[in-house]
Amino acid sequence: MSKYGFEKIERDISKAIKTRNGPTPQKPELPDSDLDQQLLAYASKELPQPVLYHSLRVFLYSVAAIKDYFPHWELDHTVLFATCLLHDIGTTDKNMKATKMSFEFYGGYVSREYIYELTKDQDFSEAVFEAIIRHQDIGDTGFITTLGMILQLSTLLDNVGANTQYVHPDTVDYINRKYSREGWGGCFASAIDRENSEKPWGHTSQLGIPDFRDGVAGNKHQYFTQ
Ligand code: ZN
Repeated sequence: MSKYGFEKIERDISKAIKTRNGPTPQKPELPDSDLDQQLLAYASKELPQPVLYHSLRVFLYSVAAIKDYFPHWELDHTVLFATCLLHDIGTTDKNMKATKMSFEFYGGYVSREYIYELTKDQDFSEAVFEAIIRHQDIGDTGFITTLGMILQLSTLLDNVGANTQYVHPDTVDYINRKYSREGWGGCFASAIDRENSEKPWGHTSQLGIPDFRDGVAGNKHQYFTQ
């Protein structure tokens, strides 16, 4: 087992999750070691609030889904926290202006440099890099790291209302009340439009133009139970 998620798992989430058991209601919390606090401080400085709150929701959904479906994983919560916090760092204005690379590729690179500088842990930095690069690499063939799979599951849940069968509605409600999704759909739809406009060769285009953007902007999933 790997605390960094370097184990193969099906990229197709419906194959990766083999049980038909439903999710349980949970109240997941953020981790708070010294390193976790440093990561959160960095993300809070670098990310606009809607992106920060999306990233925190993605972490909390991931914790809940792992508890229900992958309780045997040894994936380290700080590795998961760093990955979730930094997965969209490539969309910031500073980073969009800094590169012609696809946002998640450049964001993976920036995150790898930062994590290695902070921890001197090559496996940690590469685990984050690999998962961020592949977080929009959606498909039903082949394999991915466990860290990458859970990041895909949770980002799709927050962005387009997919994979909602894997996190209990009460858990989703709890997380969305804690870290408001106010304005998130429009914010991310704009980020997709900017990416496709400034880097029309980019990886985001593979998700469909304008289909992916319209799926985000038109996400009708009910994130609250009442
Ligand atoms: Zn995201």
